[in-house]
Amino acid sequence: MSAPAATATVATDRNRRPYDSVLDTIGWTPLIRLGRLGRGVRTPLYGKAEIFNPGGSVKDRIGMPIIEAAERAGLLKPGGTIVEGTSGNTGVGLAIAAAMKGYRCIFTMPDKMSQEKVRLLKAFGAEVIVTPTAVPPDHPDNYVMWAKRIAESTPNAILANQFYNQANPEAHYATTGPELWEQTEGRITHFVASAGTGGTLTGVGRYLKERNPDIKVIAGDPQGSILAELWRQSRGQAGEKPTGSPYKVEGIGQDKLPGTLDLSVVDEYHTVSDKDSFAMARRLTREEGLFVGGSAGLITHVAMQLARRIDDPDAYVVTFLCDTGERYLSKLYNDEWMRENQLLDADRVTLAHLLEA
Ligand code: PMP
Repeated sequence: MSAPAATATVATDRNRRPYDSVLDTIGWTPLIRLGRLGRGVRTPLYGKAEIFNPGGSVKDRIGMPIIEAAERAGLLKPGGTIVEGTSGNTGVGLAIAAAMKGYRCIFTMPDKMSQEKVRLLKAFGAEVIVTPTAVPPDHPDNYVMWAKRIAESTPNAILANQFYNQANPEAHYATTGPELWEQTEGRITHFVASAGTGGTLTGVGRYLKERNPDIKVIAGDPQGSILAELWRQSRGQAGEKPTGSPYKVEGIGQDKLPGTLDLSVVDEYHTVSDKDSFAMARRLTREEGLFVGGSAGLITHVAMQLARRIDDPDAYVVTFLCDTGERYLSKLYNDEWMRENQLLDADRVTLAHLLEA
């Protein structure tokens, strides 16, 4: 009898042999066809599932590269401390690497971030300082300003500095970009992502465009962030200096341009509401079995609109599934919280789907 056809193959020999440490399991995340979401849409849509990283997010990729760059520069020595302002996921990535190397971690975090993330960082042994969200970027109580002061006043400490540290986009140029090129056998036509630091967009965007300048990089931005407007102005559109306003999606968007975001790699920038972002995250979970956070929902909302618009069976659109939904059980996966924040149109979407089925 012939062997059954393989149902899944991956580009590496992943998991066939033991690993030296959890660090070796970071990256080479699966690329997954989003066939149910894309029902009725001719453009093929795939998701790069960063939720498979051991810390549950894309930011696992930058922990060790940042720490090793600081070691090479002689800034971090044994017994040292890593300090960072983080929305949570970078903290996890750094904490995993720090655990392997025996470094202490101190993280500052704006109070809009979920309780799950604070507890998660503490579970890894980090010290966490929660700071107010509603302050301007240069205010002394801003989480990044706090992180800077702590790093300066702690002996043998570094600020990981994800918003300016070029080790961040370089990690994506070295790993995420080449993985996508290989997984799609060079057929990727559109890469859709969003910027927190811009490390992913910049690193992956640069790599893919070097391989094929025709590849389009499409960005999504939360309504309330200023990045999409800064991009429009960088393309010559007139406008006043934008000011941000609060929004609920975590980990992406900014009220200041990060040094790690190269706006010139972006071909289109789209603004998305919290409501549309969360509705799409919930659909990814229910329809594709991919339990993701709000930023993945935002990016996939943009990717779905793009797929519909280009209506091209020969295109190859890749969206980015940045982090696990477990981080948001008290928020976007909590109907009460969604209702309190007038975000639950998603229920109607689900109901309409049931009636259609
Ligand atoms: N999604 C989530 C949930 C994040 O925490 C982050 C990083 N802050 C991103 C997306 C964006 O990644 P990057 O920093 O590479 O722009």
